[in-house]
Amino acid sequence: MNIRNVVIIGSGPAGYTAGLYAARANLSPLLVAGLNQGGQLTQSSCVENWPGAFDFPSGLDLMDNFKKHVEKFNVETVVENVSSVTKDGDVFSVNCSSGTYKTRSVIIATGSSARYLGIRGEDRFIGSGISACATCDGFFYRRKKVAVIGGGNTAVTDALYLSGLAAETHLIHRRDAFRCEKILTDKLMKLVEEGKIILHLDSIPVEFTGDEYLTGVKISNVKTGSDEILSVNGVFEAIGHVPNTTFLGDLVELDHGYIKTGENSSYVTATSVPGIFAAGDVADSRYQQAIVAAGRGCMAALDVERYLAV
Ligand code: NAP
Repeated sequence: MNIRNVVIIGSGPAGYTAGLYAARANLSPLLVAGLNQGGQLTQSSCVENWPGAFDFPSGLDLMDNFKKHVEKFNVETVVENVSSVTKDGDVFSVNCSSGTYKTRSVIIATGSSARYLGIRGEDRFIGSGISACATCDGFFYRRKKVAVIGGGNTAVTDALYLSGLAAETHLIHRRDAFRCEKILTDKLMKLVEEGKIILHLDSIPVEFTGDEYLTGVKISNVKTGSDEILSVNGVFEAIGHVPNTTFLGDLVELDHGYIKTGENSSYVTATSVPGIFAAGDVADSRYQQAIVAAGRGCMAALDVERYLAV
């Protein structure tokens, strides 16, 4: 079987950038894009902080440009999920439903997925009333009542976006301070003053209510202990992400779920297994920015180039 130089798993900013650099280093990379091609950023309605893109593209458009860019360099791409990666000596097998790819090195750039609250009633309404993607599902709630949960960039961006569509937009946050960029807080507070977004601070959701359809979310104020049911048709959970590493089993070392990189190695993106590198949100518990992921994807490809040359 043909043994490749490098297989890149993932097609967010890290995966595509790794593909671009590996292709330009003549490594003929294979990029296994995953069924959610383009990754998490495709769910952003508007990307305002990608340097140079001051027309503020949607995440979908930005990632489509990444895809076109690697296509220009003939990066071979397959769109499927990887079920496991196994190691046999110096060769790795990247196992997918359609077959196995043998390779001398692997770059893991699988990003992370939306986290859910896990409270009562949630299971019944995920996908029909509860969503983790305002850009994908916001349209279904035009002129209806919605709530967003969270206080980070995603939650505040979602609330701003939904306030332009929905009849009523609530934002529920467990503290009284937001962790999003200051410019987003300013925009948020302006819409709160205008009555377009209703804030529920120091509040945690405890239950989703409804029979056939979601009709409300029960929230509890952590300071006063009082409960309230908000009458809403849709809820958008934006409470962070979980790194996508399940398919790896215990192959590489993790730290709180994120892949450890750069420890005891001269390669910054090296994992605990020589020949396996990681880049982007799957290995970044701290910054989690598209631009950082792209930079790390570049670094992983350069590390692989050096690793293969030794
Ligand atoms: P995040 O920054 O981790 O924020 C998650 C929010 O959910 C926090 O406000 C957190 O509250 C809250 N939360 C977490 N668990 C909760 C729970 N069990 N119950 C209630 N609330 C809970 O996640 P994110 O907003 O998805 O952002 C992830 C990364 O992507 C960040 O680095 C962010 O900057 C980046 N991002 C960037 C952009 C952009 O630049 N345009 C857009 C989206 C995301 P606490 O604040 O109390 O912890």
